Amino acid sequence: MLIEKGYFADNMGQSIVLFGPPGAGKGTQADAIVGATGKPQVSTGDMLRAALAAGTPLGLEAKKYMEAGELVPDDVIIGLIEERMQQDDAGDGVLFDGFPRTVPQAEALAEIAEVSLVISIEVPDDEIVGRIVGRRMDPETGDIYHITFKPAPAEIAHRLIQRKDDNEEAVRTRLTAYHDQTSPLAKWYSEKGLLATVNGNQAMDDVGAEISAIIDA
Ligand code: AMP
Repeated sequence: MLIEKGYFADNMGQSIVLFGPPGAGKGTQADAIVGATGKPQVSTGDMLRAALAAGTPLGLEAKKYMEAGELVPDDVIIGLIEERMQQDDAGDGVLFDGFPRTVPQAEALAEIAEVSLVISIEVPDDEIVGRIVGRRMDPETGDIYHITFKPAPAEIAHRLIQRKDDNEEAVRTRLTAYHDQTSPLAKWYSEKGLLATVNGNQAMDDVGAEISAIIDA
């Protein structure tokens, strides 16, 4: 970890990026960071899924990339973020989750918002496939479960769904996209002195404790 404990407390008005491979636990940790900092979560994956569910032209364009596990083109994503950052609640910075995912996206972000911290959750590839393929979501609450690691209560088990891109083939494509296009960003942010790494290959609460120590908000 390059960044000291409590680092973020001095940089409260700015944005945080939550960075890591698919299945690293970004969504779970994002909830805790939102609770600790009050910053709204901006998840491009959630925004794209909402656009897809609403059947907007943007959602329809993104669909084929998402289902295959490929990245949606940068101009589409950057347009989404530009629009989102104009909303009132973004004024004191946000928590980006799943964005940026390419160097051009990070360059565009640098023009739109000030990022003071990038938290990278590191998990080995062989751990990720099992985590994602067993992942299930409760469509009524948005809560995430896992068939082995976090089974849902029996009374809601019947309504759980699996994300279309949470199958092994798409996961492997998502991991390739992560290594080829996204992981170079770690070096990019590290050179700017903004990167803090945490070990994502441990119990969720322990990951959360490492993140809390960095944020100390
Ligand atoms: P996520 O929920 O973050 O895992 O994103 C699900 C899918 O949405 C990804 O596999 C991509 O197809 C697409 N996506 C989400 N965020 C981005 C982004 N920042 N850049 C490109 N594609 C994205």
